[in-house]
Amino acid sequence: MTESVTNWAGNITYAAKELHRPHTADDLRALVADASRVRVLGSGHSFNEIADAGEDGVLVSLAAIPPLIEVDAEARTVRVGGGVRYAELAREVHRPGLALANMASLPHISVAGSVATGTHGSGVGNGPLASSVRAVELVTADGSVLTLERGDERFGGAVTALGALGVVTALTLDLEPAYEVEQRVFTELPLDVLDAATFEAVMSAAYSVSLFTDWREPGFRQVWVKHRADRPRTDFPWAAPATEKMHPVPGMPGVNCTEQFGAPGPWHERLPHFRAEFTPSSGAELQSEYLLPRETAVDALRALDGVRETVAPVLQTCEVRTVAADDQWMSPSYGRDTVALHFTWIEDTATVLPVVRRVEEALAPFAPRPHWGKVFTTPPADLHARYPRLHDFRALVHELDPEGVFGNAFVRGVLGD
Ligand SMILES: Cc1cc2nc3c(=O)[nH]c(=O)nc-3n(C[C@H](O)[C@H](O)[C@H](O)COP(=O)(O)OP(=O)(O)OC[C@H]3O[C@@H](n4cnc5c(N)ncnc54)[C@H](O)[C@@H]3O)c2cc1C
Repeated sequence: MTESVTNWAGNITYAAKELHRPHTADDLRALVADASRVRVLGSGHSFNEIADAGEDGVLVSLAAIPPLIEVDAEARTVRVGGGVRYAELAREVHRPGLALANMASLPHISVAGSVATGTHGSGVGNGPLASSVRAVELVTADGSVLTLERGDERFGGAVTALGALGVVTALTLDLEPAYEVEQRVFTELPLDVLDAATFEAVMSAAYSVSLFTDWREPGFRQVWVKHRADRPRTDFPWAAPATEKMHPVPGMPGVNCTEQFGAPGPWHERLPHFRAEFTPSSGAELQSEYLLPRETAVDALRALDGVRETVAPVLQTCEVRTVAADDQWMSPSYGRDTVALHFTWIEDTATVLPVVRRVEEALAPFAPRPHWGKVFTTPPADLHARYPRLHDFRALVHELDPEGVFGNAFVRGVLGD
């Protein structure tokens, strides 16, 4: 290996011997046609080996290809290149007065890598980021270009595809008129306030709501409420407004976060928690996340409360969000309205892994689907039981990539190959 390539968190050193950075789409196609094993590395924000190409494979970054961001203001769509990050996309989309429906907690991540893993923000009415995608352009194993559009019978496998179908060179996304968001943070929401109806009311109180806890107490330290200025306002009577700017990770500076005291601002400067020009989250961390049926949220939170004393010592913060059902076969919110239970751990893998297993045991009764880009130990048999369309996805992978050019150990494990 001429260079050692790690993920953003530094917990994974990719085994692939080379990282290629083609400068043109033609170079990319030629590289794919020549390779026996290839994987794309997005912005490297996943916490596991999902992006790796293995010792015999080549990793490709699209970051050196001139960024494609083509807004069609009339059609309210944008065609975005496979290496573009949300921060640059959001700026270009906002300029002519348009917007994305939602964003994740940070704008630093690539669009193609995010939708490949089922990345999401929050909101009872908001699907994962992949639900904005209306077309995918792929360079497939033989170097040819395949476009799959919403409505195509294979489209359900094409967006949240774990990088297994080919190189995504462009995505077309739905846009809507730009809107403003007011963000407020509230503090100290006790767990025992949350019965099923109250949980629904809290999470439905605004366009996007997140609860944060360090599980040192049975309750939530912070509630982030992102209200769309063009929608009717609902009061938030369950917790008191914060008096200082907050960061979801205790001890980290609030200045790294987006504006919080209710001043209206553009959607892309309020929907993410973290500002593009600062390190998101804590930077020294691992992450896990489990997506469960939303109606089990309160029981699942009580199950987590039962393992609080195991979890708290290795936890930086835990975030609870909601995601509306979508129809990508490999989406962790496929076919069910979802509650997402996220954990930002300390960065010590050996200490964290046993706690991850303990959390998985506690959540097992709720059929949790792990976030594809985060740390999990869920066995393939359980994944198969929890993804009703996984066999269809496997068939699509085998159809488009019979030699497994875009396979890796992670994907083979998921598919059961
Ligand atoms: C600080 C932090 C905060 C986060 N917050 C959230 C959050 O709010 N919500 C959430 O759901 N997740 C969150 N994540 C997880 C993150 O969104 C996912 O890991 C996502 O996949 C990151 O995108 P990436 O481009 O870095 O992906 P990478 O890790 O680079 O790649 C992920 C997968 O996408 C594939 N891929 C990337 N680009 C292409 C392409 N052009 N063609 C084909 N395949 C491709 C890769 O091969 C790989 O399989 C967070 C992660 C971090 C580090």
